Amino acid sequence: MSFLSQFDPQIAELIKNEEDRQNNKIRLIASENYVSEAVMEATGSILTNKYSEGYSGKRYYEGQQMIDQIETIAIERAKKLFGADHVNVQPYSGSPANLAVYLAFINPGETILGMALPHGGHLTHGSKVSISGKYFNAVSYGLDESTGLLNYDTIRSLALEHNPKIIVAGHSAYSRQLDFKKFREIADECGAILFVDMAHFAGLVAGGVHPSPVPYADVITTTTHKTLRGPRGGMILCKAEHAAAIDKAVFPGCQGGPHNHTTAAIAVALKEALDPAFKEYASQIIKNAAALADELAANGFNLVTGGTENHLMLIDLRNKGVTGKQMAKAMDKAGIVCNYNSVPNDDRKPFDPSGIRIGTASVTTRGFQEEEMKKIAGWMTKIAMDHDNEELLLTIEKEVRALCDSLPVPKVFV
Ligand SMILES: *Cc1c(COP(=O)(O)O)cnc(C)c1O
Repeated sequence: MSFLSQFDPQIAELIKNEEDRQNNKIRLIASENYVSEAVMEATGSILTNKYSEGYSGKRYYEGQQMIDQIETIAIERAKKLFGADHVNVQPYSGSPANLAVYLAFINPGETILGMALPHGGHLTHGSKVSISGKYFNAVSYGLDESTGLLNYDTIRSLALEHNPKIIVAGHSAYSRQLDFKKFREIADECGAILFVDMAHFAGLVAGGVHPSPVPYADVITTTTHKTLRGPRGGMILCKAEHAAAIDKAVFPGCQGGPHNHTTAAIAVALKEALDPAFKEYASQIIKNAAALADELAANGFNLVTGGTENHLMLIDLRNKGVTGKQMAKAMDKAGIVCNYNSVPNDDRKPFDPSGIRIGTASVTTRGFQEEEMKKIAGWMTKIAMDHDNEELLLTIEKEVRALCDSLPVPKVFV
């Protein structure tokens, strides 16, 4: 980044320091990952200079000879990877993709049924602080108090009681796989659109280690930067009959010009995801999460739902005498980064909740395996017991750095 260092050393240095941070820390934030250099090059390319409102072959600006091809390649790769009828690769990110889905199917004031934020749903699934909860009549389902699992009978009763136009299935912090067939049956029973938000687990679906919502959902949104390991962006997949409505809702409904540099980087990431190596990556993410969950449970950590079937887990720290924020801050000092998170029926506030959320997408990208998961669980156990012991945190930080040095972040994945 020689030009940046020359012109704006202040920003250049901060980026360099952030790169060091990403290399030297164990990153357990479940929504984060590392992209390949190939994806990074496309993201940082001159495609950022081009305006392309519209779609391939139907643009409002000239000069689309290359852009039309790039967008078509991205769409074709996404269709192939997920087996979808139709794909829109223009949403700026996951939240705008979700907004476009609402615009395509419902009017203000109409009812949506989604997973409650404190139980693992996303802001955009009807939270009162989000446009999805302000403009629509949002009803939410949560986890069963006794099992910590989704209860499909409860979801069905809520659906029959409230008659939502859209049922949202998907989550940011639920460690179990979803039963899309059951969601489909419930949606059919009340005549709702089934909208699956696979932002978190899209990479697992792509890698064949999580059931695919494609045969069941009317419409699916995803981010491209979580387990799918692409640039920051969003996509919408849908059945052929909804293609026109979705395209219209994205542009001109919610957005102007697509981010062509991101579209190109999505195409590159999808090429990586179509390679057999990605299947191994996805399967190792799950093995790592299972190993980490087992070890943490053996050390007395209380996992919401009792374990994990995907890349993430939510830890309820109430039995450990430490809050989510205290734990996350202590872990960060020790070089292990996560986020604090509300747990179901949390008695604490969202900004200082009782749990933490961790995931294995990033550490798996850098080559960590079951053995490293054991080490992480061991460190977390020590930290939970003694979270304000600065000396302990410093000692762990050194060990973490040594482990990171031994498994540097790769630049090429395929
Ligand atoms: C991350 C996430 C989103 C939003 O993605 P952004 O790119 O942050 O806007 C939407 N839905 C779910 C379930 C998510 O986990």
